[in-house]
Amino acid sequence: MTLPRPNVAILGGGPGGYEAALVAAQLGADVTVVDEDGLGGSCVLTDCVPSKTLIESSSTMTSLGRSASLGLQLANGDNPVVGVDAPALNARIKALAAAQSNDIVEHVAAEGVRIIQARGRLTGPHAIEADGVTVGADVVLLATGATPRALPDVVPDGERILTCRQLYDLAELPEELIVVGSGVTGAEFASAYQALGSQVTLVSSRERVLPHEDKDAAVVIEGVFRRRGMNVLSKSRAEAVHRKGDSVVVTLAGGRQVSGTHCLLTVGMAPCTKGVGLLEAGVNLDSRGFIEVDRVSRTSAAGVYAAGDCTGVLMLASVAAMQGRIAMWHALGEAVQPIRLSHVASTIFTDPEIASVGVSQAAVDRGEVPARVVKLPLATNPRAKMGGIRDGFVKIFARPGTGLVLGGVVVAPRASELILPLSIAIEQNLSVDQIAHTFSVYPSLSGSVTEAARTVMEFGTDTIA
Ligand SMILES: Cc1cc2nc3c(=O)[nH]c(=O)nc-3n(C[C@H](O)[C@H](O)[C@H](O)COP(=O)(O)OP(=O)(O)OC[C@H]3O[C@@H](n4cnc5c(N)ncnc54)[C@H](O)[C@@H]3O)c2cc1C
Repeated sequence: MTLPRPNVAILGGGPGGYEAALVAAQLGADVTVVDEDGLGGSCVLTDCVPSKTLIESSSTMTSLGRSASLGLQLANGDNPVVGVDAPALNARIKALAAAQSNDIVEHVAAEGVRIIQARGRLTGPHAIEADGVTVGADVVLLATGATPRALPDVVPDGERILTCRQLYDLAELPEELIVVGSGVTGAEFASAYQALGSQVTLVSSRERVLPHEDKDAAVVIEGVFRRRGMNVLSKSRAEAVHRKGDSVVVTLAGGRQVSGTHCLLTVGMAPCTKGVGLLEAGVNLDSRGFIEVDRVSRTSAAGVYAAGDCTGVLMLASVAAMQGRIAMWHALGEAVQPIRLSHVASTIFTDPEIASVGVSQAAVDRGEVPARVVKLPLATNPRAKMGGIRDGFVKIFARPGTGLVLGGVVVAPRASELILPLSIAIEQNLSVDQIAHTFSVYPSLSGSVTEAARTVMEFGTDTIA
């Protein structure tokens, strides 16, 4: 006897939604994805992929900026020979995002998933309505994502006052860009536009940039920002943004004003959970409007799961995708391990990048996790010297006694690639001793990872700086 195929309906086709669709289809379910903007979601079309494509160009500019110190000449007299062609840069970014979305559509469709491009809403815990069609389902997954917040009373106009989703329609590089908000998104765009040639002012309400990240890393980045000519305004809360002809004026608490040609608002993300029938279907939201989920992505309504930014768990594409996969494994009866947020690796794509995984310095300092800590500056690494790289470090946290790797922070060019050995160590319960006995290439930046591992047991909790 053949059992009927379970029906799965997914609202939202970002990484939370489409990765879940792939798993559900592979497990034999009849799957429908409803998405209004295009598969890949905001991640691919407006947020992660476009910003990292922009940053690839800005990093190249930074490398070119080091050319004189490497014995290369990139100027014709006083005239630089490298400039930014903003329309070409933005066209490349949008084309790459669209192509990536198309690749996902092809992949998902090839697995037999039905795609409905329309706005949808729940009409009950087991039905999504979209474009006049009702999709009934045994299992529903909500993956509607999030949208950029603005400041109260500030309306982005898409020309001079911008959210991060409006940058790629600009015809010119912003001459004087004021970035409001110094969290991850603000720091990434401030770093990128400064490298491309904008004069950037970064408005931070806190004492330092990246207030929620590793303090040593944030100090390095803020130092690099200031050295490269960025105007970093600490302890400055933006209260209003006004347009004045072709310029913008940002008013800070206390009345001080800063003006520029453009203002980019990076003050957080709001969940897309309004007007989609959640409360009516019995799906609970928290006080900030995010969908409440447990570690296998279940919501308060039986048979309804949620994944990604709409849950506010950790706003990362990799986490959204994992929550979506876990939801499907759980709903369709597979063995499943609840999500382990302590194993998530993440990167802030400033220049240099900050990558981290596992326990944080703050948790160690608060005494929550006993750990031995070593911080090895990159400046002593031979490969870094060859490339003229002087900012950055490798930091490892290890359990006293056993030496098990508990966490790490890497500040370096391409730190996003260098963090992998520490991620593997955490996932596989490896010790610093095992990393120390692993060959790294000479000369290489990853040599600093094995060297830090060798140093960590020797020097205990001392910080090598
Ligand atoms: C500027 C920026 C840079 C980022 N960079 C990174 C990075 O480098 N690395 C990283 O891991 N993360 C990054 N992120 C975060 C990452 O983009 C998100 O965590 C990820 O997009 C979350 O995926 P998701 O599936 O939850 O939602 P999304 O990607 O937001 O997709 C949601 C989809 O649902 C659709 N939708 C919503 N409501 C409805 C409805 N009612 N009907 C139909 N469709 C609907 C939307 O149209 C959208 O297509 C970045 C975010 C920003 C803002």
